[in-house]
Amino acid sequence: MNNPDSLREGRHDHTACIAKALKQADALCTRSGVRLTALRKQVLELIWQSHKPLGAYALMEMLEEASDRKRVAPPTVYRALDFLMEQGIIHKVHSLNAFIGCTNPKREHSDALFICLTCGFTEEVPSRSIQQAINLSASQQRFEVKSKVLEITGFCSECKGTKA
Ligand SMILES: [Zn+2]
Ligand SMILES: [Zn+2]
Ligand SMILES: [Zn+2]
Repeated sequence: MNNPDSLREGRHDHTACIAKALKQADALCTRSGVRLTALRKQVLELIWQSHKPLGAYALMEMLEEASDRKRVAPPTVYRALDFLMEQGIIHKVHSLNAFIGCTNPKREHSDALFICLTCGFTEEVPSRSIQQAINLSASQQRFEVKSKVLEITGFCSECKGTKA
């Protein structure tokens, strides 16, 4: 398990994070028999630019920049995002209306996102016992759970002393 501080920008080799994410996505798509097209891959790579959630609008700007200001149709981008979400390669951060790359798309998800309100640093942490409690309540309510990624906002270890 990585030390959370080691994931902070500038303190680690982030190209390794991107490379690992792309490799995992490739393997996952091959196993599921789906195609990680050039655009899907590019979207994933852009989302992985940092450990901060990326909004769809910012993503489209980056895509245009990457393709010499050629406009990429929003529905195309949303379809790529939907695909990546369906495959569990990225997660939607509903509270921020943004997207974050999954750090471990191989296993079944029982995760929580810790989102820093100051710097945006977001980390995925296992939350098995919370998820078990959710599953139990859901079955009692006969509620079918779709998304099980919890979003917890607060201040990261770096920012909590500096918040106004
Ligand atoms: Zn990184
Ligand atoms: Zn995940
Ligand atoms: Zn922070």
